[in-house]
Amino acid sequence: QAKEAGKRTWCVFSQNLEDRARARQSIELDLNKALENNELRLFFQPQLNAQTNEIIGAETLIRWQHPTRGLIGPDHFIQHAEDSGIITRLGDWALREALKAARRMPENMRVAVNISPLQIHSSSLVTTIINAIAVNQIDPARLELEITESVLMTDTEFTLKRLNQLKEIGLRISLDDFGTGFSSLSYLRRFPFDKLKIDKSFVEDIDHNHESRAITKATLQIAKALNMSCTAEGVETETQKQYLTEIGCDELQGYLISRPQPLDKLGHLFPVLTEEEAAKSLAQSTAG
Ligand code: C2E
Ligand code: MG
Ligand code: MG
Ligand code: MG
Repeated sequence: QAKEAGKRTWCVFSQNLEDRARARQSIELDLNKALENNELRLFFQPQLNAQTNEIIGAETLIRWQHPTRGLIGPDHFIQHAEDSGIITRLGDWALREALKAARRMPENMRVAVNISPLQIHSSSLVTTIINAIAVNQIDPARLELEITESVLMTDTEFTLKRLNQLKEIGLRISLDDFGTGFSSLSYLRRFPFDKLKIDKSFVEDIDHNHESRAITKATLQIAKALNMSCTAEGVETETQKQYLTEIGCDELQGYLISRPQPLDKLGHLFPVLTEEEAAKSLAQSTAG
């Protein structure tokens, strides 16, 4: 039966509207089941301070450990989760898990969580964050929300209000995939971003493409001029790292430093507590 459900799930590219509606419904069912059966996983990708060479944070990237299809990446289901609306539940889950995981990392490490447009509009976002911060006794400044330019394009005034409301909690907000969307630079003036993330499509070409180098440098200058920090994503080679460090990029993220991994597998890069140790330290900090 799982196989049947699976088959229906993956025919979303049909031209037929009815097929597509049905496919969307079955994805919603499958993702609901994935949540109930604990099939979702958070992977973590370390972020490096380019100037000090220290790991200063990690981005959480969701995976679906499907019973028959194996490990499925977010590019295969996040958009469907967004379309069906189940992203708000999935996103709340990711936030709770990320803040729980933060408890297992050094206290000076930040945790970045990707937030979908629909989540920004969801009434549960703020309460989920406030609760998860309180439950895990995490300094809100350790939490970083990553949003993309697409979030800024619908209902701009509401989004601005929501982002300011989130900032009041004390967390940080990054603009992800910078330069790949259609938003205007004037957003950078109005919205409370702490960080720009240079998209990997620019980083990929740094070695052999003059334009990509120029865009990367210009992005960095915009960030500096507006008092934001700057992270380059998709750093895969030593030459890319060297160039980005040289021009003053603050943070680096990419396969060169580490692939996204379950937290348990990152102990060689930074101290990782076991769940038991984390629970104990939480009990102590709640008592004290
Ligand atoms: P993103 O937030 O821009 O994440 C960066 C993507 O680049 C990740 O893909 C990461 O695995 C990949 N990447 C990192 N370093 C390298 C590199 O050196 N080379 C290359 N080629 N790729 C690299 P991933 O994990 O497949 O995630 C894809 C997208 O799915 C993310 O893009 C993000 O937009 C979305 N996503 C992931 N987790 C969540 C989540 O919990 N909630 C929401 N709403 N979206 C998520
Ligand atoms: Mg991201
Ligand atoms: Mg990105
Ligand atoms: Mg992306």
